Amino acid sequence: MARTRGPSSGLRARVRRFLQRPGTADMRRAHRLAAAAAAREESLGSLSDARLADAVAQLRKRPRFTDAALTEFCALGRETAVRTLGQRPFDVQLQGTVGLLTGHVVEMATGEGKTLTGALAAAGYALQGRRVHVVSVNDYLARRDAEWMGPLYAALDVGVGWVDQWSEPEQRRAAYAADVTYVSVSEAGFDVLRDRLRTGADEVLLPDPDVVIVDEADSVLIDEARVPLVLAGAAAADVHDALITDTVRRLRPGVHFETDDDARNVHLTEAGLRRVERRLGGIDLYTADHAHRLAEVHVALHAHALLRRDIDYLVRDGKVELIDDSKGRVAHLQRWPDGLQAAVEAKEGLATSASGEVLDSMVVQALIGRYPTVCGMSGTAVAVGEQLHEFYGLEVGVVPTNVACVRTDEPDRLYADAVSKEAAVVGYVAAVHATGRPVLLGTLDVAESERLAVALKEAGVDAAVLNARNDAEEASIIARAGERGRVTISTQMAGRGTDIQLADGVADMGGLCVVGSGRYHTRRLDDQLRGRAGRQGDPGSSVFFTSLGDELVLRNAPDAAPPAVVASDGAVADPGARMTLDHAQRVAEGAHLESQRTTWRYSRIVDGQRAAVLQHRDLVLRRDRAVRHLEERAAERVGQVRADVGDDVLAAAARQVVLYHLDRGWADHLAFLADVREGIHLRALARESPLDEYQKIAVQAFDTFFPDVYSRAVATFTEAEVTADGVDLDDLGLRRPTSTWTYLVTDNPFGSETDRLLSGLRRKKDPL
Ligand code: ADP
Ligand code: MG
Repeated sequence: MARTRGPSSGLRARVRRFLQRPGTADMRRAHRLAAAAAAREESLGSLSDARLADAVAQLRKRPRFTDAALTEFCALGRETAVRTLGQRPFDVQLQGTVGLLTGHVVEMATGEGKTLTGALAAAGYALQGRRVHVVSVNDYLARRDAEWMGPLYAALDVGVGWVDQWSEPEQRRAAYAADVTYVSVSEAGFDVLRDRLRTGADEVLLPDPDVVIVDEADSVLIDEARVPLVLAGAAAADVHDALITDTVRRLRPGVHFETDDDARNVHLTEAGLRRVERRLGGIDLYTADHAHRLAEVHVALHAHALLRRDIDYLVRDGKVELIDDSKGRVAHLQRWPDGLQAAVEAKEGLATSASGEVLDSMVVQALIGRYPTVCGMSGTAVAVGEQLHEFYGLEVGVVPTNVACVRTDEPDRLYADAVSKEAAVVGYVAAVHATGRPVLLGTLDVAESERLAVALKEAGVDAAVLNARNDAEEASIIARAGERGRVTISTQMAGRGTDIQLADGVADMGGLCVVGSGRYHTRRLDDQLRGRAGRQGDPGSSVFFTSLGDELVLRNAPDAAPPAVVASDGAVADPGARMTLDHAQRVAEGAHLESQRTTWRYSRIVDGQRAAVLQHRDLVLRRDRAVRHLEERAAERVGQVRADVGDDVLAAAARQVVLYHLDRGWADHLAFLADVREGIHLRALARESPLDEYQKIAVQAFDTFFPDVYSRAVATFTEAEVTADGVDLDDLGLRRPTSTWTYLVTDNPFGSETDRLLSGLRRKKDPL
């Protein structure tokens, strides 16, 4: 992506428009308005703080910013930033701010100061009376940015708050009530899901969605979008069969079970099956009687063969903690779907925790789709411009860098196998370290980060390791990563958003050296890692070490021919081998996109139904809809309760009963659809259109949703005892989940096979 500095000449602008990629926006207006702000700089500079605040207050009176107001706002924002943060926003930052305020995704390279750009835009929206969520990729950034920009917001008289996964409900409520709220995408999504299960209107935490500014927009809107956010509720603890765990543990790969090339599916061989059946007491697993056990065996096998400790999960404080595979950090309160979680716990010899059922779920598109105004920023947005347009109707506007980037990006160094690659990485890092330059070594997973730390130590290099295991030290590790002689090894945790500042004298040595231990599944992530060096015109360099034994290649280009010539240290110079690597990355990108499309299409069908349920739920929650509906169906009983306890208690009791059955009904409907969807995949083999078929069934099933809910509600209401204290649903065995947690469900890495197995387990549970 060529970037130009300064205003374009007419010809250049025309050429640029001609070359403009689909899904990219014209940023000339932003350019013009931001440039005009300079004219106000001198006179604003001489104002007292109070006068400056007055000028901001004047702006607040305008309902919607005109072009003139946008320029005035840029000028005021700049001056306020100078006074509060000691940083004068560059023209390009103001262009970005205008881009955001006009509803674009702006592409600004890493290190260009998007935090400040976004904060100004958030304040600009807030001054127009809008409520803004600044959505980040993780909790660390949400909190960092809210605190960092705090003084700026204070001076502009805009309230700001932040939410992370540890925030208590009251903290969340306060943060969401602020004009601007910084929150990670998953917390925002889970709060929406949790809010949908509230039984009192005053318990709802989130106000109506208004404006969202998405930081690292490609990560949130594209990469995260594949991952439905799922809220589950606790039922009973899963008793995991120790005999099954033990049996599975003794199975041998290749003999008793086999995994697919891409390690997403595993199945028992004939010999494995015989062995398991024998160990379980000579049963035939493929009979209807033993269907649950078969499903449990498969799930245990998945846990045993496919989920790898320190790659897919950690064991910390006696608990299994999932590692979010796109961010490399631990996902608090997240678990695998029930059954699988219990199986992993059993594999690790830990107590199995309570299992649950899916209460509701949502994909990121639906979360973002709730906001009437969407904009975003990223260093790597143009590459997904078409998808942003397809999925969100967004356009990307490119903002040039403030100072040209002088980082040198070296070509990949390719090796025949992972072992020689790692040796080369260690040699390279040690050599750069010897020059005093700080090194950031990006690795693909926790295990690798620790392996390389050990190898470096053996080579006499001490490294700080930042991974899911020690995420608490994140801020302090990052703060020192730009010091002379520092070597920092990080999983993808440092891949987005972190700001590594060079210590004194480091620029003269050549700045930060970024080393990647392998390419990621998309070029954008590679670029993000490189972007940790060379910020704001700093010197720096980057290089990736790759091998034909990398998972990326094995999974996505398994049939590639081996390289013709391999040097004694394992290095490969063969251009064909290089192409294999690029090809593998493209295949991976394509697969991700396809999986996202599929998720989106299926979820859209359910989204319409969910919207209807939620709309109705809201009326029940906030109005008297429950009583009215019950009265239509059971006038006599309602009259009797009214006479006994009065209107208020009646209304509250009716509400509790109807909400219970609405939520129960929705969870059942989702479980049913999950079963259907898994069956549909099998039908796809018979060349029917699975999506159409799914839609047909989903629509049919939903036809009776409300009638069913109300007939159950009437039954409960008739049976229940309603006293002055209200209705006791627990008494009737109608329990709401006492605790909830969230799942990360990807179509990867387990594939539909696992869905099928898990729904086999789900069916085993007695319906309430
Ligand atoms: P990005 O999100 O675009 O990667 P950050 O917001 O993390 O960038 O900022 C990168 C660095 O640039 C930070 O250290 C920040 O303090 C600095 N910075 C941002 N804007 C300015 C400015 N106008 N003047 C000086 N430094 C700035
Ligand atoms: Mg950033």
